Amino acid sequence: MGILVVGSVALDSVKTPFGEVEEALGGSATYFSVAASYFTEVSVVAVVGEDFPDKHVSFLRTKKIDLTGLKKSPGKTFRWAGHYSYDLNTANTLRTELNVFETFNPELPVEYRDAELVFLANIDPVLQKRVVEQIKAPKVIAADTMNFWIEGKRPELIETLKLVNILTINEAEVRQLAGEANLVKGARKIISMGPKILIVKRGEYGVLMFNGGSTFAAPAYPLEDVFDPTGAGDTFAGGFMGYLASIRDFSDENLRKALVMGSVMASFTVEDFSLGGIRSLSYPEIERRFREFKKLSHFEDL
Ligand code: AMP
Repeated sequence: MGILVVGSVALDSVKTPFGEVEEALGGSATYFSVAASYFTEVSVVAVVGEDFPDKHVSFLRTKKIDLTGLKKSPGKTFRWAGHYSYDLNTANTLRTELNVFETFNPELPVEYRDAELVFLANIDPVLQKRVVEQIKAPKVIAADTMNFWIEGKRPELIETLKLVNILTINEAEVRQLAGEANLVKGARKIISMGPKILIVKRGEYGVLMFNGGSTFAAPAYPLEDVFDPTGAGDTFAGGFMGYLASIRDFSDENLRKALVMGSVMASFTVEDFSLGGIRSLSYPEIERRFREFKKLSHFEDL
């Protein structure tokens, strides 16, 4: 079971207390698809401008990512600039330049319309909805969003959420979207908007999953060297969805394992700038960290 992802493919300029990069490869669809490519086939729907370096396209091809739906349009590629202070859990956006995304109207290649698993990565909720509308019979639709869209396109986002089964957003976004300070009450409110499963990303504190009556918490991997948290959320989603696509079963037990796999992949991303941490991983490395995760929170009930 492959995955179809729509999201941003970007050039990111990022500064953290540990270094900085200018116009490096980034974007929600990019991190997602590279992470998911370790588990399943991934097809991307996105747009870049004429200035998008060919070397990035070649790199994505080396990961066997299907780029039939990656359009090149006249104009400039989407750009995002952000910085982090010592609190690496909060990204401060300095600039968002939509550029070619302002006029992008995603038209799915015919072969993409049979997709069963869909991820609506962080992008304009109007575009997310247009993509869903072109898919014949999706089985699971998962989505992400961010403060930029919760603030700027709230009614459109609420329409998109009606079509979504799994939503992955961060803690601050839960509060902002629900208009509720308490996370549990906020989660309940968001679940009433459409998604049956809500996954709350909490940076270095891990993730929380609300699935019907079941709540599950996974820690983040305790790393000594965290350089750049950009893309951690999208990488998490790529590992989570990729793993589910590979086992083709969405039981609560498997969702929990997938949640840990998402956290494993995100832990690699934050160890380097841009896509550096997940460019060339090996399966034994991924498996080793998965097992270490298991030990991290395992205890016996005496
Ligand atoms: P995250 O996983 O939340 O750290 O996402 C980081 C990525 O999101 C960066 O590579 C950015 O290019 C991308 N991004 C930032 N703002 C937006 C936006 N408004 N729409 C789409 N993508 C964005």
